[in-house]
Amino acid sequence: MSRGQKTVIENVRVFKNSGITDLTTVVIDGDLIGSDASNPDQTIDGAGGVLIPGLIDSHVHVLKEAHLQKLLHHGVTTVLDMAMYPAERIPQMRSYPGMPEIKTAGVPLSKAGSVHSCVLPLPPESLHVKPEEVAEWVRKRVVEGSDYIKIIADVPGPDQKTMNAVVAEAHKHQKKVVAHAASYAPFNMALEAGVDIVTHLSLDKAVDTGMAERMLAKNVISVPTLCMMKETSKDLPMSDVAPMLLKPKTLHAIVKNKRNGHGKHTYANAEASIATLYHAGVPILAGTDCHEEGKSIFDVPHGESMHRELELLVAAGLSNVEVLEAATSLPAKYFGLEDRGVIEEGKRADLVLLKEDPTREIKASRSISRVWLGGVEVSR
Ligand SMILES: [Zn+2]
Repeated sequence: MSRGQKTVIENVRVFKNSGITDLTTVVIDGDLIGSDASNPDQTIDGAGGVLIPGLIDSHVHVLKEAHLQKLLHHGVTTVLDMAMYPAERIPQMRSYPGMPEIKTAGVPLSKAGSVHSCVLPLPPESLHVKPEEVAEWVRKRVVEGSDYIKIIADVPGPDQKTMNAVVAEAHKHQKKVVAHAASYAPFNMALEAGVDIVTHLSLDKAVDTGMAERMLAKNVISVPTLCMMKETSKDLPMSDVAPMLLKPKTLHAIVKNKRNGHGKHTYANAEASIATLYHAGVPILAGTDCHEEGKSIFDVPHGESMHRELELLVAAGLSNVEVLEAATSLPAKYFGLEDRGVIEEGKRADLVLLKEDPTREIKASRSISRVWLGGVEVSR
């Protein structure tokens, strides 16, 4: 099946309008969803399965084509990357044909002395930004192709004045700002700065009602990354921790960071945070924080983790339908990807055919039989 051709999928149910349709026919016309089923080049029997929009992972880290292949294999057709450096990697990662579309934050803002600056190979342009240099820093990211601007909020980390300036500058360029915030103080700083999206959850002390109401009032979105929250709040074996502690700079940053927190990081605080955000009505998107396996002490593999994230969101209290929307139509809406995320005429034909119905049992999102990316069936 090549571009410009017409495929008709018969005998299929479709996830749309917050539910599952009766058996119907879906037309793929070129790279879009069509409506005219006449004279198809190919007809496929959907065997009573369920067609859902291609999944959108709202927090990934991709470094090579193999990562994109794994994501696609698991039905993820669009990825929102949350830090890509050096900047030359952006056009390189976007150059692979037939791979999920990549939106990226590009080079993120952190600060020398932060935990991230010690454990990640962050480039110098991430680490030494003064408030008066922010306008030029944001302009550079825009030129490099950043689709949104990322701040790694933490204590130690960028100060409030710098964060405020980044948000103001990014908004002048019509760019949204995503803040990494995995504990209470930085989460509040991110909200104070006026960011648009907060990724992760406060693990040392749960997000409270006041914060959730503030988010709702300012249209701030949550990408909780429960997969990652589960990993970072588990007790690590000493064999994983010891090498980190042997580095004095890292140890100093971790101790300083812990001292600024409200207590032990627990997954219970993540779940309590989700419950508070959910009941306040803050939009919640599915993102995993998947990254290179083997190079991290955290196990969040590309693609497979997306299905784990959906299951964790259901376990945290969202309905199956809400979780499916959190991985399709909602990220499309909040990240300005209006051409996708729903199965409607004229939208991009990014589609996943499931054998079972995920509105009944969320694990069914794993029962993938076929995937289409922009109307082209992916060989799995
Ligand atoms: Zn991340």
